[in-house]
Amino acid sequence: MVFVFSDNEKIAIEMLAKAVEISRELGSKPSAVVLGRDGQEKARKLVAAGASVVYLAGQDMDEIKAEEGSEILHSICKEVDPPLIMIGSTKTGKEIAPRLASLLDAGLSTDSRKLYVRDGSIVTERIVYSGNGVATERFASKPAIVTVQAKTYDPLPPDDSRGGEIVTKDIAPREYGSKILKVESMVSEGANVEDAQIIVSCGRGFKSSQDLKLIEDLAKSLKGYTLGCSRPIAADLKWLSEDHWIGLSGHKVKPKLYVACGISGQIQHVAGMRDSGIIVAINKDENAPIFKVVDYGIVGDLYTVIPKLVQAINEKA
Ligand SMILES: Cc1cc2nc3c(=O)[nH]c(=O)nc-3n(C[C@H](O)[C@H](O)[C@H](O)COP(=O)(O)OP(=O)(O)OC[C@H]3O[C@@H](n4cnc5c(N)ncnc54)[C@H](O)[C@@H]3O)c2cc1C
Repeated sequence: MVFVFSDNEKIAIEMLAKAVEISRELGSKPSAVVLGRDGQEKARKLVAAGASVVYLAGQDMDEIKAEEGSEILHSICKEVDPPLIMIGSTKTGKEIAPRLASLLDAGLSTDSRKLYVRDGSIVTERIVYSGNGVATERFASKPAIVTVQAKTYDPLPPDDSRGGEIVTKDIAPREYGSKILKVESMVSEGANVEDAQIIVSCGRGFKSSQDLKLIEDLAKSLKGYTLGCSRPIAADLKWLSEDHWIGLSGHKVKPKLYVACGISGQIQHVAGMRDSGIIVAINKDENAPIFKVVDYGIVGDLYTVIPKLVQAINEKA
């Protein structure tokens, strides 16, 4: 069985699309693990997304720590012996993957972007040196463990008529020294850049937070009201909340259209938006690195270009 696990349901569904493909090549079955409460409903969604078997565990646990999650996964893996384990690259997934690799004495490759079988071995490709290189890694032993970021694979269309087995596992992890004392929700403005189809993003090319009205106008005229930003705008200047932050340490996005305004295009920003459909940039510096990744580049002052662009789009509309 090819195993998929993520505490983020969307990533689990995306990874299943790849698991279905790899399972065919390995003569195996795509399967998934769901930890925690409300597992039945999640399991049904995973079956509709391609899982032949879904294992449920820890259903009586409110919060599952990485140590406990790794122990439960380890116990299921020992029984099922999967050749490949795909783990969603969330904060929890990044904590569980190395622990599980250690428990299984297995190899782990993080943030895999491509996955295939070559001469019977699992091979993965991942970006290294902040996007300046691609490492191709072949697993010499089984199981192979990879972490996978959001939006790496397109999900299969859900099919509620698909049949799949849902297996409940009664695994009680042992007591660990750490305790979860409090769970607090992140401060959020409700922006969901990861699912947006059109994103208009701002960077340090803006002189003040009031000027962000310009990108709001542009976003509205494009009928895609989702704002993104570079790290300094969210982390240093705090003009927008962290929901909007795009890049290596922010959100990874894949909209149909990404408009970067006053963003230089440093590799850490590009790492989060390079998979966008059409990329447009407005920057007054013709040598800005963002122009290396764009489909359309406008060299000019955003304070004059954006109003003209909004006017032109509105006239067309
Ligand atoms: C470990 C690490 C992780 C990081 N993670 C991220 C990340 O996730 N996301 C991220 O974005 N960054 C990240 N960074 C920071 C990154 O390296 C850059 O510093 C950052 O992306 C720069 O933001 P910027 O493009 O808004 O600003 P700048 O680099 O200062 O660029 C501003 C741009 O605006 C242009 N400009 C100025 N005025 C105008 C105008 N009037 N009209 C048009 N253009 C104008 C300039 O020509 C310039 O190109 C990370 C850095 C590190 C070290």
